[in-house]
Amino acid sequence: MTPRERFDAKVDKSTDGCWWWTGCTTRTGYGLFPFRGKLSGAHRVAYELSVGPIPDKKHVCHKCDNRNCMNPDHLFLGTHQDNMDDKCRKQRQVRGHDVSHSKLVAPQVAEIRRRYAKGGVTQALGREFGVTQVTVGDIVRNETWSTI
Ligand SMILES: [Zn+2]
Repeated sequence: MTPRERFDAKVDKSTDGCWWWTGCTTRTGYGLFPFRGKLSGAHRVAYELSVGPIPDKKHVCHKCDNRNCMNPDHLFLGTHQDNMDDKCRKQRQVRGHDVSHSKLVAPQVAEIRRRYAKGGVTQALGREFGVTQVTVGDIVRNETWSTI
């Protein structure tokens, strides 16, 4: 298989908006993919495969703020500073979050519930989304994020 095929096999494009990474992730929730001989950030690989090479010192940032999103339309090049600014701006906009669950954003919560309803396992979902099994359990029982 080509790198593109191997990569696409790990991306769930079944939703209209964000394309979810289904492969392994870092503890902080970024997808990982072996590309050109080294383990790379999956969103960076998505950018390279769809748009083109990433210039030195540039970061691939998410317009949608979903670390696990691989939709090239949601990715843009920025500096480390852009990335931080963007993160801060988005965090200020977020309302009604329990701080301990701030690693997740609303579409991910909806996705976790959808997958769980289809027979997903809390432990596996937690690993995939970079949160604990307990966090996933709270979400699927509507004990957190009940406004979504
Ligand atoms: Zn997205």
